[in-house]
Amino acid sequence: MTISVVTGAAGFIGSNLSKALLEQGKTVVGIDHFNDYYDPSLKRRNIESLLAYPGFKLIEADLSQFDWQPLLTDTDVVYHQAAQAGVRASWGQGFHAYTERNITATQLLLEAARQAPNLQRLVYASTSSVYGDAECFPTSEQVAPQPVSPYGITKLAAERLCFLYQRNFGVPVTALRYFTVYGPGQRPDMAFHKFFRAVLKDEEIPIYGDGQQTRDFTYISDAVAGNLAAGSVPAAVGQVFNIGGGSRVVLSEVLDTIEQIVGKPLRRRHQENAMGDARHTAADISRARTLLGYEPKVGLAEGLAQEWAWIQTLYAPVVVA
Ligand code: NAD
Repeated sequence: MTISVVTGAAGFIGSNLSKALLEQGKTVVGIDHFNDYYDPSLKRRNIESLLAYPGFKLIEADLSQFDWQPLLTDTDVVYHQAAQAGVRASWGQGFHAYTERNITATQLLLEAARQAPNLQRLVYASTSSVYGDAECFPTSEQVAPQPVSPYGITKLAAERLCFLYQRNFGVPVTALRYFTVYGPGQRPDMAFHKFFRAVLKDEEIPIYGDGQQTRDFTYISDAVAGNLAAGSVPAAVGQVFNIGGGSRVVLSEVLDTIEQIVGKPLRRRHQENAMGDARHTAADISRARTLLGYEPKVGLAEGLAQEWAWIQTLYAPVVVA
């Protein structure tokens, strides 16, 4: 029996991906150390729904000091989603967590993957943040990465390590550069989650800069589909792919759509630009289309409505009988 390993299984993307694999009947081992970058009880909730599947096993461990060898013996695909995410916290004191969780943890996995007898694929979760303020839009994988945040630097370093191990030792790596993923389960430090929570609590919505920045937003089930293809398509080995939502949207227009969904005006409060945030992102997804058969299926209005429905249950007051 072979297993799929999902690192960061208690997180936003890792938990959704684990669920999709379990639904396909796969045996999944999820690894997470439930750090407190955001409220670990949200991660526990994510894991709870996975533990309901008989094919799921949780290993609670820190990947920056993990003995991979025994687990990798029977593993055919590793989906390496664990990382220290978030651009803003990567400056200053926080940087150490980024080097440990993003670079060191990935290097340990790659070293062990050299000896893994049944490993068919290692899918690395990379990011559009490697592009920084890209020179052209939509941005293709050929554009030279120029991160503008310490986070982007560590994610790019780990991506480069992946391809070093692929070229030198034949580790079957594929990297996916996600463009702002959203939907049910989204991290509480991400914009849409913050916006919807503020609506529920009738608070002001903090907006970085003038609201004219653009983003390519990717719905979670599309990001998951990109992973499933990357984990199985033979031609994906040695390749890096943009995983975007298929269109570029101005943030202030997104806010208008959110107003329509929640049915009331938003109290917008503009604040200074966040250091490390790229002004624009837009994915050229032609390579993923051609080689992975990737096609984003969920549009922004539909995806936002799904996230709003989830946020309302997440923050619903607990009724004591
Ligand atoms: P998340 O923080 O919700 O999930 C990451 C999980 O990894 C967390 O549960 C955390 O506890 C775990 N983790 C971190 N370091 C670990 C370690 N050393 N040992 C064990 N577990 C560890 O983040 P997410 O939004 O789901 O992001 C998943 C991946 O996708 C990350 O690699 C991130 O860099 C990448 N990414 C995310 C987005 C996005 O829009 N969410 C965009 C681009 C790239």
